[in-house]
Amino acid sequence: EEQNRFAEEKSRELEKIRIELEEYTEQLEQSSQYKSDFLANMSHELRTPLNSMLILSQLLAENAELGTEERQYAKVIHSSGNDLLTLINDILDLSKVEAGKVEIVPEEMSVTEFPLVMEYQFGKIAEQKGVRFVTRMEPDAPAIFWTDEHRLHQIVKNLLSNAFKFTDSGEVVLSIRRADPAVVADALPECPNETVLAISVADTGVGIPASKRDIIFEAFQQVDGTTSRKYGGTGLGLSICREFANLLGGTILLDSEEGRGSTFTILLPPLGQTKSHESAMMLSE
Ligand code: ADP
Repeated sequence: EEQNRFAEEKSRELEKIRIELEEYTEQLEQSSQYKSDFLANMSHELRTPLNSMLILSQLLAENAELGTEERQYAKVIHSSGNDLLTLINDILDLSKVEAGKVEIVPEEMSVTEFPLVMEYQFGKIAEQKGVRFVTRMEPDAPAIFWTDEHRLHQIVKNLLSNAFKFTDSGEVVLSIRRADPAVVADALPECPNETVLAISVADTGVGIPASKRDIIFEAFQQVDGTTSRKYGGTGLGLSICREFANLLGGTILLDSEEGRGSTFTILLPPLGQTKSHESAMMLSE
């Protein structure tokens, strides 16, 4: 009887703990939901006034009735506003990844058109910097590929912006090919038999010291962390690239030589049509 009472008491205690845990989990989910809602609202509230500032400063910068100096001020307002918008978008992207709220939407992407889109977007920057922009489609690259094209664009755009930012002469090369099976076996051992796409962004810029090659993929980390640093930026771009590459089932490799340049390579396995719908659902849950 004594034993029975003991067992009953223990089971009541366990039940109490289970209920407490359930309540706690509910509270956690609730506060994570509050956080996501707060970030979504904040970003909307921040972006709306910022958009007016961007549009109006652009109009001022183009207004021929104003003096050169005034137009120059308007240009500075415009470009600072753009920096702020990038920062807001980056923080929002990262917190969405953290909250598991990034939905991956697989679609059939035209690999052939991909370099053309990037040439269109970066042609002007290349010209302004006097850096050659070369795109290369290797013959073994597939013409179409299943992935989330929007996220892949974000990754490659971030890498290309960095490449142009940290390169003052020479060239930036975007190349697309089928990944070397030996590299895949090493970097993505879980998908050895798949057709893995390799997209590289190589530059002839400042390069990255070996001691910094891992940490620059962490949020807010830069090679030069001092406030007097030469290059702007927030240190969020590469962590977003890495998170997105992981969500797409791939990874990013870095090869660099200080003073000579850097090559970032995205390895991307195809997202299967049915498999990816499942993973899209899982990620949005
Ligand atoms: P940001 O460019 O805003 O500083 P990133 O996360 O994109 O943030 O990059 C982090 C850091 O990695 C950069 O500050 C820079 O020090 C280094 N880095 C990234 N790309 C390159 C590159 N192509 N060449 C040299 N350094 C780079």
